[in-house]
Amino acid sequence: MKIFISSDMEGTAGVVDWDQCTIGGAQYPYYTDLLTGEINAAIEGAMRAGATEFLVNDAHSKMANLKPHALAGRAGYLSGRYKPMYMMQGLDASFDAVFLVSYHGSMGSGGSVLSHTYFPAAFAEVTINGVVAGEAGINSLVAGAYGVPIVLVTGDATTAEETERFCPGIKAAVVKKSITRFSAEALHPEAAKDLIREQAESAVAGLSLAGPPALELPATLRIRFRSSDYCELAGRIAGVRRTGDLSAEVTGSDPLWMYQTFITVVLLCRGLVE
Ligand SMILES: [Zn+2]
Repeated sequence: MKIFISSDMEGTAGVVDWDQCTIGGAQYPYYTDLLTGEINAAIEGAMRAGATEFLVNDAHSKMANLKPHALAGRAGYLSGRYKPMYMMQGLDASFDAVFLVSYHGSMGSGGSVLSHTYFPAAFAEVTINGVVAGEAGINSLVAGAYGVPIVLVTGDATTAEETERFCPGIKAAVVKKSITRFSAEALHPEAAKDLIREQAESAVAGLSLAGPPALELPATLRIRFRSSDYCELAGRIAGVRRTGDLSAEVTGSDPLWMYQTFITVVLLCRGLVE
């Protein structure tokens, strides 16, 4: 039984500041160790329920945050930047389930710690068929396309709620309670790992009842930008229709194409800054 793990970092118990999850930050090495512990807890829980193979796709920042040897379950490690399938690179129909570890709330959510949607400078809000989508919701396009259920998410309560909209019945390990966008009350790391282990085990044990994310097609992904220069650029991509000074949309019947088109917008917008 194969599990695909997409790992971010802002959702780890204790993380409340960009500095803690940015390479070069004084506290970054400590918090990457905590993140690794949470990923491993998810792997260990899944192994208890019979999972045997794991691929961890490092999906945070420059996407090379983890020490490969420190991953449990002899997990494969997919890392590095500019992956065409970004946070979901490596997933295909051969996997039995997807875990989203250390995810966070969407840019528009109220006071979810370190909330953003892919690229904080460019995106104010993304909706799919009118439902506000965080990264989990957007990434569910890929899982849906390959017919693989997303069965576990870890992060704060907002992240769990936003993911549930696209993945009904998902198991959530809520490891912290956000107070503001830069403060949260977190479980002790050992308690967080225990909770993740339990939820991962029960997610895999209940796999036969889980279905892939369902999406009514054709679907529309709408983006509200934070400034018109990003929107202007995005509107030049084939398949992206500009609908206002700050808004554009992508409509299609192929969720994989929609995701890749969105990722092209992300990479182009990042290019404006990087
Ligand atoms: Zn993220």
